[in-house]
Parts: sequence; structure tokens; C-alpha cells
Amino acid sequence: MSDSHPLIIIGTGLAGYSLAREFRKLNPDKALVMISRDDGHSYSKPMLSTGFTKGKDADALSMGDPGKMAEQLKATIRTHTTVDRIDTANKVLEIGEERLHYDQLVLATGASVNRLNFPGSDHPKVMSINDLMDYRAFRKQLGENQHVAIMGAGLIGCEYANDLLNGGHQVSVIDPSTSALSGLIPEPAGKAVVAGLSDAGASFYLGQYVQSVRDTGKSLELTLNDGALLEADIVVSAVGLKPDLGLAKASGIDCSRGIVTNRLLQTSAPDVFALGDAAEVDGHVLLYVLPLMACARALAKTLNATPTQVSYGVMPVATKTPACPVIVCPPLSREGQWQFEQDGLNVKGIFHDSTGEASGFVLTGDYISEKQQLAKMLKGIHA
Ligand code: FAD
Repeated sequence: MSDSHPLIIIGTGLAGYSLAREFRKLNPDKALVMISRDDGHSYSKPMLSTGFTKGKDADALSMGDPGKMAEQLKATIRTHTTVDRIDTANKVLEIGEERLHYDQLVLATGASVNRLNFPGSDHPKVMSINDLMDYRAFRKQLGENQHVAIMGAGLIGCEYANDLLNGGHQVSVIDPSTSALSGLIPEPAGKAVVAGLSDAGASFYLGQYVQSVRDTGKSLELTLNDGALLEADIVVSAVGLKPDLGLAKASGIDCSRGIVTNRLLQTSAPDVFALGDAAEVDGHVLLYVLPLMACARALAKTLNATPTQVSYGVMPVATKTPACPVIVCPPLSREGQWQFEQDGLNVKGIFHDSTGEASGFVLTGDYISEKQQLAKMLKGIHA
């Protein structure tokens, strides 16, 4: 290792900044460079889907501009800068014509949004919101009391739906599944979310998808797969995220569903590590905050000569859908069966694996108060 070269972190999202903070607690002096293709503002991405509920616009959601972050972290922060390739043999980053040496490198490059391709999908008012800059652009396009069509009833689509309703907007949600959050929770719980958001004013078009978007001059006209027409002022595309693998693949670093790492967060390249939404840690791709915080704490130690494996424990995911709150701890395996108790919007589901042991749960509505109790029951099973 050459101490004359810095630790470089690519990415200034929650993973990049959390790691930088943890690293500085252990090492106040080593040169640290952070590089981001975005504007480098520090913000909590989960808060993007609470802007109206909490009365915050994009500026209010920023917790620090890159100048303030650079001072706090004693780091050089380069914004609007895209790293094109990593020469892992010579430990050099390529940024256009520039070459930048690193001692250790961390990829905290996040996840990018899935994009659908249909006539009109490239209209400027068909928008994805995956960072603070996207959110700023969205709020600029959105007027008062608008009709927002949301493609996707997953966690992000449902959270934006609830928040936009709280902001006084009209909301329609379109999804090919038969219930909400279908990739994350079982159907009875998903149906409770649909019912809760419908009671709050949302219209759901389930079993449907958008075939085209046409600008009529006054509004956007969406054609659904059954031929139905829907008028909206703006369309939010929330059809999923996937780890951003472009840079790692272009640099010959092993990737599968994410950038492949072991529990020390080491990639296939020497002195190159990965964490956050971009990483596949020991086979797990977890696009959530709690796992990346655990990784940041472990990796800070590893980068400071104390190799530390990350372990996760039980990490329930909570949705920010106050119309029908959800807490879920997805089972690790599909082999087994759900058992439900239900009273209106309140659903409690426990998943028993093939040995009969409880290995996952979902709670909606009033049942979310049982979170601690059920999380304790799973302790020791989730690694
Ligand atoms: P990102 O925030 O995506 O950061 C990636 C960084 O990499 C960016 O700075 C980008 O500019 C940079 N970058 C990428 N490629 C390059 C390159 N080639 N060169 C230079 N820079 C590059 N999780 C929860 O646990 N609970 C929640 O309630 C929750 N709510 C959410 C709500 C919404 C609306 C969304 C979108 C997500 C939510 N999540 C939630 C998920 C959570 O926010 C993410 O897991 C987390 O923010 C990921 O952080 P990250 O730093 O890995 O990635």
C-alpha cells in the first residue's frame, strides 16, 4: 500500500457519506477523496418520498452542500464528475483524460432506475425520482393540485402515492400485479395497502400497464393495456431499481446481480471494496439503509487495518405509507407457508419455513406495534 495516495470513495449517497464518517472516526488524517457524478449534496434518500408530508422541498431535504461536507469530513469532494474506468492493475481511476491514483478504492455507486420503453416514455413529464436532483426537477414540474399517474405499486411508488395525496394531489397508481408491494409482501398485506391508499383517495389500476403516453397539449393521455385512457398532468415511473454495475463491469470487476463482494466487502480487484445499493455482499443484494450502515461500520475498520466481516441481524423494512403502514422482514427462503390474521387493514402474517420455524413476518396497520416482539422471535436466524 502507498500512503502517498488517498482513499477514494466513488459515490456521495448514504453509503459513501456514511462510510466517510465512520472512516474519519478511526482515522482523522489519511487523505480522502470523494467523487460523485451528482451535485454532492448530503441527503437522506428515504426522505424524498416524505417531502409533502413533512413540508420540505429539495433545498430543505439537503443536509449539507459539498463544501460543508468537505470541511466536516476533511475530504476533497469532486462533484459532477463521472469515473469512466478503473485500471485495477495500476490502481488508477480514469476520468476523461485524467488519471487519479488511489491507495484503496470504494465503490458506493448505488442503484439506477429501470426504464420502460414505450411510445412517449421519453416525454420530459414522465419522470423517475432516484436522487435529490431528480426530486428538485420533479417539484419544479409539479404545479398545485395536479393529477399524478404513478407507474409501479412497489415500495417507492406507494410511498410517493401517499406523500402526493398528503400534498393535495390526485393520484393514480398503475401496476401489472394484483396487489401493492408484490415483490416484498404477500398478497393479503398488499391488498391492505391498496385499500388504505384507496381510502386516502388514490385510484388503483391493477393488472394493468401503460402502453403509451401522448401529450394532448393540455395534459398527458395514458393508454393502458386494456385500451382504457387516463388523463394526468405528470407521470412518475417507479418500476424498480437495480445495482449500477456499469463502472465495475467496464473495469473487469466481478459482478452478478450486484458488484460481488465477500463479507469484508472486498471485490475481485485488490484494494477495491463495494457497499450500499451497488453491492452484492455474500450473495445478498439489499437496497436498504440498515444494511449499508452495517457495511459502513465494518468497512471503516477493515480500511484501517482491522479486517471486520459484516453481519446483519434482523433488519425489518418499514414503509412510509401512513394510510396503511407496513413492516416486513422477508423470509430468507421461499420454501414454507404464510399464516395470516386479519382485521380490515390490519394484517399479521408469519412465514414458517419447511422445518416449521418462523423465518419472516409482515405487519400492516395497527399490527405494526408488534414489530419488536416478532423481530426477537427471528433473532439468530437472519445472518
Ligand atoms: P445512491 O444514493 O444511489 O448513491 C450513489 C452515488 O454514486 C451517487 O452519488 C452517484 O452520483 C454516484 N455514482 C454512481 N456512478 C458513478 C460514477 N461512475 N462516477 C461517479 N459517481 C458515481 N431504504 C430504507 O431502508 N428505508 C426506506 O424507508 C427507504 N425509502 C426509500 C425511498 C425512496 C423514494 C428511495 C428511492 C429509496 C428508499 N430506500 C429506503 C432505499 C435507500 O434510500 C437506498 O438503499 C440508499 O439510499 C442507497 O444509497 P447508496 O449510497 O448506496 O446509493
